[in-house]
Amino acid sequence: MNVSDGAVEAAATAIGEADSVVAMSGAGVSTASGIPDFRGEDGLWETKDPMDFHIDRFRADPEGFWADRVELQDVIFADGDVAPNAAHEALADLEAAGHLDALVTQNIDGLHQDAGSEDVIEIHGSAARVVCRECRHRFDADPVIERAREGDLPPTCEECGDGVLKPDTVLFGEQLPEHALMKSHAKAQNADVFLVAGSSLTVEPAASLPREAAQRDATLILANLESTPLSERADFDFRADVTEILPRLRDAV
Ligand SMILES: [Zn+2]
Repeated sequence: MNVSDGAVEAAATAIGEADSVVAMSGAGVSTASGIPDFRGEDGLWETKDPMDFHIDRFRADPEGFWADRVELQDVIFADGDVAPNAAHEALADLEAAGHLDALVTQNIDGLHQDAGSEDVIEIHGSAARVVCRECRHRFDADPVIERAREGDLPPTCEECGDGVLKPDTVLFGEQLPEHALMKSHAKAQNADVFLVAGSSLTVEPAASLPREAAQRDATLILANLESTPLSERADFDFRADVTEILPRLRDAV
């Protein structure tokens, strides 16, 4: 579907005039960089067993968990060959220009930060970090993944000595990080404009954020290839590729 320049201009005006704009990104922003979707028909969980990545499996068998996790890393990050795309860059540019108050993401790949976004709220955690189960110290994931790849299983903490390290993502069976969720809700409750990018809005509690903003009469802008449960309510429902529509929005603001 073609999105008219007039509609883009109108949405950009809403962004430009708002006191607070909050964006939320979902899988569609990552898949445009070649990262596989986790859910859906061709999703990662159709070929990988989600139970292998459950918190109970991590607790019972951290060695086996990490062996599987190293393999998953190569699938998620296409053997290290992924980079931010035009959608990531447009969101980073909007923030740099003072037009984005916060960016909530359901993605765990860290590509928003790679593109230059600074205030990123990662409600599903980040695969770019690991966390110690004992002292809660966080580390860059890359060297830890390398240690695991070389057979250091499970990798343990160099800070406290013996805590087992866990990917700092929300595993199946784990709660979402409370602080990130509270911050997201606070931002959504204060937003004049809520921009959803590449999310089908089918996963809770992420979907509740734009819903809350919409209930308060915030301007709702959706940029997603498919229809979403909020499409009828949306002020702008752009059924378009995020790498095409977000740069157009940025350029028009
Ligand atoms: Zn530790």
